[in-house]
Amino acid sequence: MKNNYINDVLKLYSNFVFFLDMTIKNVELVLDGDAKIAENISYDDFCDLFKNHFNLNNESRDKMKRFIDQLNIGDNNIFTFEVKYDNVDGEKIPMVVKGKRVEETKAIISLSTDLSARNKDYDELTKTMTTETLQPYIKNAIQQSIPFILVLLDIDHFADFNHKYGNILGDVLLVETAASIKKIIKANGYVARESSDRFLIMLFVDDDYDIIHDACSNLRYSVMDLTNHNVKQANITTTLGIASFPKDGDNYDILYKKAYLGLQRGKLKGRNCFIIYREEKCGSADNFVLPETNFEYSSNLVTNFNIVAGVYEIINRKGSREANINDALSLIGTYFLLDRINFFVLDPEKGEIIKIYSWHAPLVPARKLKPNQSHIEPWHKSYNNLGMVKIVQVDSNKDLPIYNILKEDDVSSLLAIDLFYTDIEVGLLRFEMANSNRFWNQSDISTLNLISKLFSTFIYKQYEAEKFERDLSYDRLTNVYNYSKWFDVVYDYLYTNKTDEYSMIHFNFANFVHLADVLGIEAANNALEYTADALRKYSTDEIFARLSEDIFIVFSPSTDENYLEEYIKNISNYILENYKYGYHYKLHAGICIHDSSDTLNQTIDKANITRKNALANDKLLLFFTDDFYERQKIINELERHQNDAMKNGEFKLYLQPKIDTLTNKIAGAEALTRWKYNNEKMVYPDMFIPLFEKNGFIKELDLHVFENVCKFQKDVIDSGYEPVTISVNLSMYQNNFDEYLFKINEIKDKYNIPAKYLEIEITESTFVKNIAAVNELMKNLHENGYKISMDDFGTGYSNLSSLASFDFDTIKLDKNFCSDKEKEKERIILQFVVKLAKSLDINVLCEGVETKELVDFLKDIGCTLIQGYYFDKPMPAEDLKEKYLKN
Ligand code: C2E
Ligand code: MG
Ligand code: MG
Repeated sequence: MKNNYINDVLKLYSNFVFFLDMTIKNVELVLDGDAKIAENISYDDFCDLFKNHFNLNNESRDKMKRFIDQLNIGDNNIFTFEVKYDNVDGEKIPMVVKGKRVEETKAIISLSTDLSARNKDYDELTKTMTTETLQPYIKNAIQQSIPFILVLLDIDHFADFNHKYGNILGDVLLVETAASIKKIIKANGYVARESSDRFLIMLFVDDDYDIIHDACSNLRYSVMDLTNHNVKQANITTTLGIASFPKDGDNYDILYKKAYLGLQRGKLKGRNCFIIYREEKCGSADNFVLPETNFEYSSNLVTNFNIVAGVYEIINRKGSREANINDALSLIGTYFLLDRINFFVLDPEKGEIIKIYSWHAPLVPARKLKPNQSHIEPWHKSYNNLGMVKIVQVDSNKDLPIYNILKEDDVSSLLAIDLFYTDIEVGLLRFEMANSNRFWNQSDISTLNLISKLFSTFIYKQYEAEKFERDLSYDRLTNVYNYSKWFDVVYDYLYTNKTDEYSMIHFNFANFVHLADVLGIEAANNALEYTADALRKYSTDEIFARLSEDIFIVFSPSTDENYLEEYIKNISNYILENYKYGYHYKLHAGICIHDSSDTLNQTIDKANITRKNALANDKLLLFFTDDFYERQKIINELERHQNDAMKNGEFKLYLQPKIDTLTNKIAGAEALTRWKYNNEKMVYPDMFIPLFEKNGFIKELDLHVFENVCKFQKDVIDSGYEPVTISVNLSMYQNNFDEYLFKINEIKDKYNIPAKYLEIEITESTFVKNIAAVNELMKNLHENGYKISMDDFGTGYSNLSSLASFDFDTIKLDKNFCSDKEKEKERIILQFVVKLAKSLDINVLCEGVETKELVDFLKDIGCTLIQGYYFDKPMPAEDLKEKYLKN
């Protein structure tokens, strides 16, 4: 489309165009307008042609030669030069020649009359003569008794074309028409642009019907065959009126009048034809007075702009849109003396009828139309190429696909216009007569057509505005309310119902972000869509919204704990059952039953805190209790204090032994941090690790722990004890592994600790999150001599293949993985994992072991490394040294 457009514009403003091929030094194609003048000629031949074509002197020819040479060696700039050529009157017309390289070896050169040298004798747009310029030629032929015919050629429905396709294409149509006429008449006549869409043609042919017939047919078909795509689509036709000299008279005026009468007759006949003047058919020319011609688009002559302006004003009035549209229809109906107007509004996206506005004249019975989608298709089959249906008498159009609809709707005559906004169909306007036939004249058509454009634009803009409004209130993905809209609706509800009894639910999903990383955005989006579906399915009076990412908020008028619990369970189950990856999807809800001393916002906050607790404690749902609030307060306090705590050494190194049950001796230890808040109160990792992971402080803490471990190992070695390997946890939020590695090496070297006494625990989710980077890190750790273990195996996304594809020394089975030991199936799986790991030369450790029973069971299946309260809790590092390493 864009290319077409450029071509169209190019054609408008230059007629003589040629293309250079600089590799083989020739001119590929020379065009004058659309006519091809030459193909594949040498530069020299072209310069001769150029000289002859425009009747130039040798100097201009040489200028052109130099110009081409310049283009050949030049860069991509536009080059220009000026020449003058003689027009038919022997006048010198200045022309500008412009050239530009379009590719490395191709150039395009165009030639156009200089805009500053506008010549009123020539029509600037089509580069044809004006009628005044043509007249002397006609008079001359009459004087010399040379037979000719005078043809008035009119483009049918040009005004409609211009409205539908716009002025630029209207101009293109005129330019192309002029060019094709020139092509047909060649040297055998002249053409002038007579008015906007009408051309006066003088053709030197004898008064012989067959010859005239051929000549006129050629003219008509050449216009039908225009090359422009859009023009072609519109099926342009022409009507011609013809007078001949000497038969029809011996002066210009009478010949012109007769050609005009022929044209008028052709138009009455229905256009798309040519009429050779005959008095019996076309009427006498003697008393005929020519109407004033006006060199403007004919549409401007017949369109009534007052009524258009009136309609514009009404539909854009402030206030009710419906009232405005009804008023506008009433104005149109009254002005055009219509019986009824029916205005169908379509949904621009779905094409469905969303509303029908109807107007009827006072004495015409009303007819209420029902939206009937099956009626749309017959209309589409009935529109002409301008998107209209024009029927003078419905009864004589029984073949039309809309015939039955029109009969049913009591229409006797109609003008219907398909409403488009750019290329989007937005409606249908039906201007109807109920009891009479109506000849829809050009003025009706062009004015109503323009009015229909106003309606198209208006309803489309309205639609966009509503859509925008929707976008402001709804979450795009799930189509549930967004927070601000939700808040307004809830606020209104509380205000209208004057109630203080309600509950607030906040929920989201464990590991949603990782889920998106692992399964992809689309799967994650799907999960959210299922959630929204579940909410819609199980909500009765609930009002819900998506807050952010995976967090949803629900307002419920119920304060019944059982009901609320059931509600959340239903939603969770719905997702588990319907969503493809449901098993990955763990819902955690916090519910707060409103306390009348709280504000709405406080209740929302409490539900949020409760959700966080449900998440931290791996619970499907929790009801708010005051501890949660305390907990959050503490967390806020901790965050404020974190930097000071680091400086004051409040993060204490605790160690938990790993025991080998074969020897009952210590096989290693894990470093677990305790925060001695203000060196008084003990704070456990579940309070501060998630916090530090969120605020980034974890990076600092991990290195701090590593350094404490190195200090401890040095102390052990210095005391002459045998050290054991101590593992430290690497947070999955540690994202710059290179930096991490560099720093731990630095610390290890500072205390001079052999790397084999140091182990890094990496959690499963870290693996999944960034496989390539973790692989690289593991390679580097091993190269530096560190041990590596995989923490929390069996909690999340692990699959057995990760055992084979990653190179670690130990897997740490999560205690949950072992808890189902009673079940036969779990036992078999566990046994299999241990066996597989061993065959891959990987140690298996089970952590969180609290009972003898479990110790025995593990021993049974071959897992002898155990970390758990059964043997010892994490203890201050000093204690472990005394208790386990001394001997
Ligand atoms: P983890 O690495 O899986 O550590 C094991 C957790 O299980 C420790 O909890 C430990 O005290 C606990 N545990 C050990 N034996 C038993 C038992 O028999 N029964 C029960 N119920 N629990 C047992 P802790 O110390 O609260 O640490 C929790 C988590 O916090 C750790 O899980 C680890 O992921 C993280 N964490 C702790 N310290 C650090 C640290 O310095 N850096 C990083 N990045 N994470 C840490
Ligand atoms: Mg650990
Ligand atoms: Mg663990």
